[in-house]
Amino acid sequence: TPNLKIENLRVSIEDKEIIKGLNLEINGGEIHAIMGPNGTGKSTLSSALMGHPKYEVTEGNVTFDGKDLFEMEVDERAKAGLFLAMQYPSEVSGITNADFLRSAINARREEGQEISLMKFIRELDKKMELLEMDSSFAHRYLNEGFSGGEKKRNEILQLMMIEPKIAILDEIDSGLDIDALKVVAKGVNEMRNPEFGCLIITHYQRLLNYITPDKVHVMMQGRIVKSGGPELAQRLEAEGYDWIKEELGIED
Ligand code: ADP
Ligand code: MG
Ligand code: MG
Repeated sequence: TPNLKIENLRVSIEDKEIIKGLNLEINGGEIHAIMGPNGTGKSTLSSALMGHPKYEVTEGNVTFDGKDLFEMEVDERAKAGLFLAMQYPSEVSGITNADFLRSAINARREEGQEISLMKFIRELDKKMELLEMDSSFAHRYLNEGFSGGEKKRNEILQLMMIEPKIAILDEIDSGLDIDALKVVAKGVNEMRNPEFGCLIITHYQRLLNYITPDKVHVMMQGRIVKSGGPELAQRLEAEGYDWIKEELGIED
């Protein structure tokens, strides 16, 4: 089953250490959530895992299905089945959503095993219906002129079509109204299976009302400082982060 293992990870941006010794393991079949105050390094973690050049890994090990992640080229990581939903998805002119999805699916397949056009269209229709997306979406240029909510929905469509082994969803819930939030949650819940593991990074607990995580981790000052079950997210919603700071003797 899929496995992403992060050990003692340290990441710096422009010589400033942001991630300060982080440990986390995600297996197929599991949904984890990382919550934490703003500026604590949550997005830095996902950018570092995806190989953003600005983020320097100074220490630690990350393996994806047993292979050293940082030895893999960035496109190899995606090809091997790691999916990262960016906090700010980029616009791409001249490539339609459907073209992008089909080439992303085929990039993960051996030559000669490409998805047939018929099957692709069937799957796309089915998933767009589940995500309550208008069929015109398929033929629009990737993210161009999409509203914030449409981009998020589109990321979940990408997730469902590409079927990665491990997905990291950074603030997939930010700026969504309650209906869009439910649709995003429906998509993630639909993905739940033993061959898929997911890390949801969020500032707010509300998405976790619709996706029940197996494990919740609190990140502060570049580390995971506390882990628990879904009840931990509920306590954070009710009481904020101060009680954890007090418990651990952390100062701002
Ligand atoms: P979070 O996602 O938890 O809100 P971030 O990972 O975005 O936190 O940011 C953590 C810290 O790293 C912040 O102090 C932020 O200013 C800094 N940081 C993040 N990205 C960059 C960047 N590209 N250049 C400079 N500093 C950055
Ligand atoms: Mg932030
Ligand atoms: Mg962030």
